[in-house]
Amino acid sequence: MSRNGGAQGQHPPTTASGDRLAVIASHLSHSWLGSPAHMASEKEAALAPEPVDGPTIFDKIIRKEIPSQVVYEDQKVLAFRDITPQAPIHIIIIPKVKDGLSRLSKAEERHVEVLGNLLYAANVVAKQEGLEDGFRIVINDGPEGCQSVYHLHVHLLGGRQMNWPPG
Ligand code: AMP
Repeated sequence: MSRNGGAQGQHPPTTASGDRLAVIASHLSHSWLGSPAHMASEKEAALAPEPVDGPTIFDKIIRKEIPSQVVYEDQKVLAFRDITPQAPIHIIIIPKVKDGLSRLSKAEERHVEVLGNLLYAANVVAKQEGLEDGFRIVINDGPEGCQSVYHLHVHLLGGRQMNWPPG
């Protein structure tokens, strides 16, 4: 059963639209320094309800309706700097055509090529950004994965020492 209603296809309301905004604002409001507040916001995002498959803010970025710092683009893939970076280099890599890929768990066999395109683009962008000492790739899936934008995307993070296990 759907618990949704979010106009952007991101986290929909819990009990009121204010709750949803608070979760999203909290999720997006911390820097890459990794504060305890950031960890709390990740938990809040994880507790947000099931998302919908509608358009997201990334569609507006693809259509250039809102500004973004594009670092790579080809026929299938767009990569731009994350608006709330969690590392000195934090780039979001997305398929230009969503084709049902609101999240990785929606992937079907027909998506194999675009999934490869995303990872290969991540490698190209990592080289372009000078991340020869390494980097991290993250794909958040669903509420427990702390996904906040329901258009499949790869996070490319680098420029600092990563930790393990991740939060
Ligand atoms: P996720 O939480 O895995 O769904 O990641 C979504 C990412 O999109 C977050 O890291 C946000 O900071 C990022 N984001 C949201 N809106 C924008 C935007 N307008 N421009 C760039 N990055 C964005």
